[in-house]
Amino acid sequence: MTPSVAEKINNYENTNRLFDRAADALGLDPEMRLLLKTPFREIQVEVPVRMDDGHLEVFLGYRVQHNGARGPMKGGLRYHPEVDFDEVRSLASLMTWKTALVGIPFGGAKGGITCDPGAMSLHELELLTRKFTSRMGFAFGLHRDIPAPDVNTTPQVMAWIMDQYGARYGHTPGIVTGKPLELGGSPGRLEATGRGVAQITELAAADQGIPLKGARVVVQGFGNVGSYAALFLHQQGARVVGLSDVRGALWNGDGFEVPAIFAAAKAGGGLRSAGARELSNEELLEQECDILIPAALGGVITRENAPRLQARMIVEAANSPITTIADAVLNERSIPIVPDILANAGGVTVSYFEWAQNIQVFTWEEAQVNEQLTRIMARTYAEVMALVRERGVALRTAAFMIAIERVARAERLRGGI
Ligand code: NAD
Repeated sequence: MTPSVAEKINNYENTNRLFDRAADALGLDPEMRLLLKTPFREIQVEVPVRMDDGHLEVFLGYRVQHNGARGPMKGGLRYHPEVDFDEVRSLASLMTWKTALVGIPFGGAKGGITCDPGAMSLHELELLTRKFTSRMGFAFGLHRDIPAPDVNTTPQVMAWIMDQYGARYGHTPGIVTGKPLELGGSPGRLEATGRGVAQITELAAADQGIPLKGARVVVQGFGNVGSYAALFLHQQGARVVGLSDVRGALWNGDGFEVPAIFAAAKAGGGLRSAGARELSNEELLEQECDILIPAALGGVITRENAPRLQARMIVEAANSPITTIADAVLNERSIPIVPDILANAGGVTVSYFEWAQNIQVFTWEEAQVNEQLTRIMARTYAEVMALVRERGVALRTAAFMIAIERVARAERLRGGI
């Protein structure tokens, strides 16, 4: 599963290759390409934390604000040992294209801290989050840059950011999205990314001649995105046959009783199911299935395992789960890929609703949130498919083309370049 060094070290280059493919199809001029590829601002901060045992640990925190032509920059914060500038830069750029693709008035940003949250106490995580916010907060802003959850960052982490930011700049719930409901979070935000993944999966499966009822689905990762995607797909009639988390994978050819596994995992019991066969995460990806949904980390489908995958369709719930080389292999094998910027855009869409509610100091009903989310996802999917049919390009290229054209238009209209 580990990508080869050549594939791993160039996250941002990989993303830019996807950008270039779409920019070529659009005939985008060299100056605009340069402008759109260059991040607006990149910040690194030192984050010193006095750990529970009394020793001082110094972490590194990052924020890359990629593009703000269409609105305040928006994107998650990731806590993980492999976080670095290259990864954050790549994810920030994806956020620019994702927000443009779904047509919400945001640009793109991403951040993170290189740390191992699994080895830290809640108290240490709170100190880490507060120190990061006090040092990075100058770059945030209700109309400048709004962080959100990503890998290993929860509504509780968002609450600490809001509290720390508010202590210096005044109460500003909209400074961060993905908050707990009690602090101005939006109904439906927790489920939103998984809900959008499930909706797009059903639409794309139908177009590929795969009826969702009874379709064999494999989901890698059982965190926020993967668990809700699996739950909704189960509810929609799919047969979820493979599941995994960082500790390993489970297989049940008859289909899992996902709600029971979901409830046990949320109660802190990890991923367990009586009678399931245990697999490694690497093996899970290579099992025969109708729909493979990577929903954990980036770079898990590589040039090594792409030739061995036996899925009829792949839906990128995670960001960048497929390296560009693997993407080419899968295109060659005619395995359709629903790209991340389309498949997982439900999260940032409801983050937009949360921000809008915070600014209005008004809370929507959950039904309204879900209805608006469903409308935006369906419209976006239809726009991408229309371009796929018109130009004969892959879904990823079509999605990037739509997004790049929108950001380029905003840059030209603003002028000053
Ligand atoms: P999370 O921290 O809630 O969950 C991550 C899951 O991946 C956990 O179950 C973890 O055990 C599992 N995992 C970690 N390493 C693994 C490995 N090597 N093999 C298998 N499983 C592994 O994170 P999340 O918020 O669900 O994010 C998952 C992906 O979705 C990321 O790529 C993230 O960027 C993307 N994403 C998240 C959101 C969001 O709203 N949270 C929105 C869009 C995209």
